[in-house]
Amino acid sequence: MSATLLKGGPLALRILGSLRGEVARLRKKYGKVPSLANIRIGENYSVSLYEKAQKKRAEDIGVEYRGYHLGEGATQDQMERLIQRLNRDRSITGILVQVPLPKQLDPKRTIYAIDPKKDVEGIHPENLGEGILGKEEYGSCTAIAIMELLKSYRLNLYGKEAVIVGSSDVVGKPTSLMLVDSFATTTICHVATTERGNLEHHVRRAEILVVAVGKPHLIKGNWVQKGAVVVDVGINQFHGRLVGDVEFDQAKGRASYITPVPGGVGPLVPAILMRKLVTNFRRRLENHEL
Ligand code: NAP
Repeated sequence: MSATLLKGGPLALRILGSLRGEVARLRKKYGKVPSLANIRIGENYSVSLYEKAQKKRAEDIGVEYRGYHLGEGATQDQMERLIQRLNRDRSITGILVQVPLPKQLDPKRTIYAIDPKKDVEGIHPENLGEGILGKEEYGSCTAIAIMELLKSYRLNLYGKEAVIVGSSDVVGKPTSLMLVDSFATTTICHVATTERGNLEHHVRRAEILVVAVGKPHLIKGNWVQKGAVVVDVGINQFHGRLVGDVEFDQAKGRASYITPVPGGVGPLVPAILMRKLVTNFRRRLENHEL
């Protein structure tokens, strides 16, 4: 058996196609376009990949993209002053801070500094909290992309054993809540699971396996249950090529569906980001906030 590939590209193109039309319509009606402020700190290979993809997608659909680059040694004060300036700037629709941050910057203080209305990534506590209490679309773009990819292949999650490896605020935690909302029975694994020697045990139980760690081949192919659905979110540079966190070739022979890396969740994330940005812009225009 060889798994069907879960490819994010076709859905991403459909989303972006409809957004292009919507941005043109809003420009015609209101004479304005949405704008994305992207803050990058220092140099990081994966971040530069995300940034490039986001810029390209923004420009493709007529969204204004503004890049801000702080040096590797930027202080918390510098970061917050930049965010406050962008919060006040009425021409900016959404603010995105690329993670991971260097050690001297506090991720929680940084997220709190962003105006929740401009938190296009959806990770401000106010937005996450509203999501848990039932707001229609919440959580990070990556978590939404994972769920939409599963839904676009009409995969049934109801009552399934879902295991997520990685519990970050940006990927693992919001994805686990969304899986619970889809009635999957959900387990989250993290460093302590591995340290206790239990990672393999949980992965073997998974009918739906989502891995978001950032360690090449952490998940051995022969741990994957026959017929499982595998979503590999990890992006790693390994011997000069991009790989995920799962041993793809071995896992592909056991899974029923699996994401390729690259080409799985990755292409969908900037499309979801653009959709959130355009939706936010339209709602605020309609409410006369802009
Ligand atoms: P992160 O903030 O570094 O979180 C990694 C998570 O993995 C943490 O919860 C950590 O556990 C856990 N972990 C680390 N080592 C582990 C181990 N040996 N066993 C089990 N769990 C372990 O990373 P992230 O932002 O969630 O991103 C994860 C990966 O997804 C990265 O490769 C990133 O590049 C990729 N990513 C891809 C996209 C995309 O567009 N495709 C988007 C976002 C992220 P503790 O919390 O216990 O430390």
